[in-house]
Amino acid sequence: MSWKLIARAEQRLAQEIALLRPPHGGDLRIALGYPNTYHVGMSNLGLQVVYGILNQTPGVSCERFFLPDPDELEEYERHGRHLFTLESQQPLEQFDLIALSCSYENDYCNVLRILELAGLPLLSCDRTEQHPLVLVGGAITLLNPEPLADFVDIFGVGEAEGLVEELVVHMRRLRDLPRPEQLMGLAQVPGLYVPSLYTPNYEGERFVGLQPLPGAPATIAKNYISRDQFEEINSSSWILSEDTEFGKTFLMEVSRGCPYICRFCTVGFSYPKVRWKPLERLWEDIATVKQHQPRVGLISATVGNHPEIEALCERLMQEDLSVSFSSLRADKLPDAILETLVRGGSKSMTLAPETGSEELRKSINKRFSDEQYFEAAERAFRKGIKNLKMYSMVGLPNELDEDMDALVKLVEATRRIQVSSGRGGGRITLGLGLFVPKPLTPYQWNPMVTLKLAEKRMQRVSAKLARVGGVKVNPEVPKTAILEGLQARADRRLGRVLLKVYHKPSYKNWQRALAEEGISLDYELYRQRDPDEVLPWSHIASSWPKERLLRDSERARQQRFKETVPL
Ligand code: SF4
Repeated sequence: MSWKLIARAEQRLAQEIALLRPPHGGDLRIALGYPNTYHVGMSNLGLQVVYGILNQTPGVSCERFFLPDPDELEEYERHGRHLFTLESQQPLEQFDLIALSCSYENDYCNVLRILELAGLPLLSCDRTEQHPLVLVGGAITLLNPEPLADFVDIFGVGEAEGLVEELVVHMRRLRDLPRPEQLMGLAQVPGLYVPSLYTPNYEGERFVGLQPLPGAPATIAKNYISRDQFEEINSSSWILSEDTEFGKTFLMEVSRGCPYICRFCTVGFSYPKVRWKPLERLWEDIATVKQHQPRVGLISATVGNHPEIEALCERLMQEDLSVSFSSLRADKLPDAILETLVRGGSKSMTLAPETGSEELRKSINKRFSDEQYFEAAERAFRKGIKNLKMYSMVGLPNELDEDMDALVKLVEATRRIQVSSGRGGGRITLGLGLFVPKPLTPYQWNPMVTLKLAEKRMQRVSAKLARVGGVKVNPEVPKTAILEGLQARADRRLGRVLLKVYHKPSYKNWQRALAEEGISLDYELYRQRDPDEVLPWSHIASSWPKERLLRDSERARQQRFKETVPL
């Protein structure tokens, strides 16, 4: 027993403002976690939404857990204590289900770390009816969950609403059966994927597909809710905590999906349609927390497109609420948003040009011109925004070296606008990320840019902008993006590598483990994949047919190089 760990849990609970706590009793106990620390996990709205659904389902009690902070980890190890939940401080192994919401591929090692801390065998084939079922849901399941296939009993694929309730019904129905029958029963539920029911086949190092056991579906359907359902569901924070990336912020989902379908982005391709929350529904949610005076964080891929955005901003300003917006587009930035930001005390905002080249921007389907970008930035500065964060990628398909110079020019010109708008005392920060070609987008067949080229291009931008006053460049660590790309695009053989690196996932350890397992980065990341190739994620239903993705990928190339080959 470690009193220090218990005290930390109690302290966290005491500092939270909870609109919902787990009910006592119930016949189904679920431990719901995030494969990162409390600070990171509590900044994730998806986790809170599932927490809300489960704790409002009759007979279900759901408690949270997180990857311990480094000092807590030492304490767990010193006392040999198994990972426990925040609310009742009971070990995870005593629950019926351990569910994890996973948003980022680079958290896969943490999934293994959590299973180990919980005292569970890491491989699902070594677990029995005596162990809780292990489920992973979240954004990664929409794309390619395969690297985790050997560790997870069930993936929840798609949107949680509707699927979580079905899971509960079928867990109750199947709970007294032996584990293999339970799993086959759960595999019949659309949106639940039981990876152990599929055998991967290879020809040499080439993955050629998954062979389902008789009775298991060949294609994994994704769970989506309708527009009407989306309007009804609660997808706002249930718990407010200062210890998050945004402080005490009430996160509210304003929309799901995106109408723009930028070719590099998974949002437009993952969700079949855009759904908006009506103003009155949003307002009902705000009314429940207004007394706690939180900051309000509006979560949406394109909040500026909300059909009632002006009225929403007006009301937020009337209530004197401090507001942040998760994502803004330069060509969809009404004054109402800027005024709301400034009135709420914000001095900074982010506008992502994605690339400095207009042609390349068109090719990735981010359709706004430099002029539109400058106009939006100028309006923001004149309305009172002091600092601008710009975000751009390196390594986009069809990118050329000179696109780096175009980016430098775009930043320099934006800085000049900042100064001439009277905000010269402010700062421009350029976030420079490395593009990862993600599954189920038109770029899924493209190679990722090599580490060497990425470093060269990032350096070219950083070196030129180092001479510009008021501008700071924040480049992503390219090796982190390379590992993200590998985990996003690999098949389930990568699980053997994860087993070797999860304790210390340094780039060097990854390289060593990959070599030991005979997996090459050249093959997994740096080659153009053949359109006829079976991709590791080919069994996950795609919102877009393959032919359409292929056509779109070709169109992107033609738009960049102005070819007129008929499509
Ligand atoms: S990059 Fe932004 S605008 Fe484009 S599809 Fe993704 S979320 Fe939508």
